[in-house]
Amino acid sequence: MAEFTNYDVVVIGAGVFGSWTAWHLARRGQKVLVLDAYGAAHARASSGGETRIIRMSYAKDEIYTRWSQRSLTQWKELAVSSGQQLFHQTGVLWLEGEEFGRLRDSQATLQRCGIAHEMMDNAALSKRYSQVNFEGVERGLLEPGSGVLMARRGVQTALDEARKTGVDFRVAQVVTPSGRGRLGSIAAGGCGTFSAGQFVFACGAWLGKVFPELLEQRIFPTRQEVFFFGSPAGETRFLPGALPTWLFNHDAVYGMPDMESRGLKMARDTHGERVDPDTQSRIVSAEGAERARQYVARRFPALKNAQIVETRVCQYENTWNGDFLIDRHPDMPNVWLAGGGSGHGFKHGPAFGEYLAGQICGEGNPEPRFSLASKATVQQRAVY
Ligand SMILES: Cc1cc2nc3c(=O)[nH]c(=O)nc-3n(C[C@H](O)[C@H](O)[C@H](O)COP(=O)(O)OP(=O)(O)OC[C@H]3O[C@@H](n4cnc5c(N)ncnc54)[C@H](O)[C@@H]3O)c2cc1C
Repeated sequence: MAEFTNYDVVVIGAGVFGSWTAWHLARRGQKVLVLDAYGAAHARASSGGETRIIRMSYAKDEIYTRWSQRSLTQWKELAVSSGQQLFHQTGVLWLEGEEFGRLRDSQATLQRCGIAHEMMDNAALSKRYSQVNFEGVERGLLEPGSGVLMARRGVQTALDEARKTGVDFRVAQVVTPSGRGRLGSIAAGGCGTFSAGQFVFACGAWLGKVFPELLEQRIFPTRQEVFFFGSPAGETRFLPGALPTWLFNHDAVYGMPDMESRGLKMARDTHGERVDPDTQSRIVSAEGAERARQYVARRFPALKNAQIVETRVCQYENTWNGDFLIDRHPDMPNVWLAGGGSGHGFKHGPAFGEYLAGQICGEGNPEPRFSLASKATVQQRAVY
C-alpha cells in the first residue's frame, strides 16, 4: 500500500468548509491534501446543489453577522480572481409576523456593523412587491447588498483556486482513525495511507459516522426538501431584480427568485427526520410537494398552477443549537473536527476556513461557542 508523507495538513471533506480551509491553509504556506469520498460539493453533500442564501441578519448573534460580512468580501474576491459568477446581489428580505423581536435585534446589529438595510411595513412591502401576498406579515427588513451564492460552483472554484496554489486533491474515502495521542497517518480506501502534521475532518453530516462515539449524538443530520417552480411563459416578476431572496420566520419558509433560469426556489427551514446521508432517498415526498405547491400558490398568486420544474433532497448537519463545531479531537490533539453548519453554514465558508486555518497555524484565541465542550446531545435550535 502506497504511503504519502509530505503534507502539513490533510483535509478530509471537500464541502464548503474543507475547501475554504484548504484555500486559507495554502495561503499560509501549508502543504495540503484534500480527500473526499465522492468529490467536491457532490450531489449528496450539504454543499451540493445550485444556490445558497447569503444574508447578514442574525438577530443578536453578531459573530455570525461579522463572519457573513467577511465571507461575502471573500466570495466576491474569489469571483473576480476566478472569473466565475459566484454571487448574485438579489437583496435579502427577512419577513416577520406579529412578534417584533428578531428583526429589531438584527436591525441594531446591522447598524453596528455598518451594513445597509431598510425596514418596511406591510403597506410598503405590498407596494414594492405587488407579486407577493404579504398576508400575516407585519414588516420586512431588506438587506440590499446580500443575495445568492452559487453553491456547487463556488465550492469547486475555491478548491480549483487552492489547487492552483499547490493543494492536492483526491477522491478517496478515509477510514475512521483509532487510538489516542497524536495521529500519524490516515488510511484512504484503495489509495494508501497519508501522513501529515495535522488532520481536519470537515465531513459534514458524515461526522457522526466517522466519529460515532464522540459525535453521533452531537451532529443531527436531517432531511431537507427543496423545490423549484417554473413561472408562466413570459413572466418576469419572479426574476432577480423584481423579487428579492426572502425568509419568513413565522412560516419557517425561505426562497429566492428564478436564479439562472432554474425556477423560483422554495423550501421549509424546519428540521426534517434524522437521516443517513449515504442512504436517504433523494426523491421528494408527495406530501412535501403538495405543501410546497399550496404555499407558493398562497404567497405568489401568479404561480398558483406553476409546475415544479426541479427538486432536491439534501441534509442539514445540525449541532444542538446551530453553533458551528470547530475544535480539536479530545483524544487526538492534531485532529480537528470541523462542521455543524446547521442549515446556515454555507455563506460562512470563507470566514470558517480562515478561522480554522488560523487556529491550525497557532493564530488567535479559540471561540468558546465553537468548542466541542459546548455541544449538547439534545436539539434546541437557537441560531437562525
Ligand atoms: C437544503 C439546504 C439548504 C441550505 N441553505 C443554506 C443557505 O441558504 N445559506 C447557508 O449559508 N447555508 C445553507 N445551508 C447549509 C450549508 O449548505 C451547510 O451547512 C454546508 O454546506 C456544510 O458544509 P460542509 O463542508 O460541512 O459539509 P458537506 O458539504 O457535506 O461536505 C462534507 C464532505 O465530507 C466528505 N466526507 C465525509 N466522510 C468522509 C470520509 N470518511 N472520507 C472522505 N470524505 C468524506 C463528504 O463526501 C462531503 O463531500 C443549507 C443546507 C441544505 C442542505
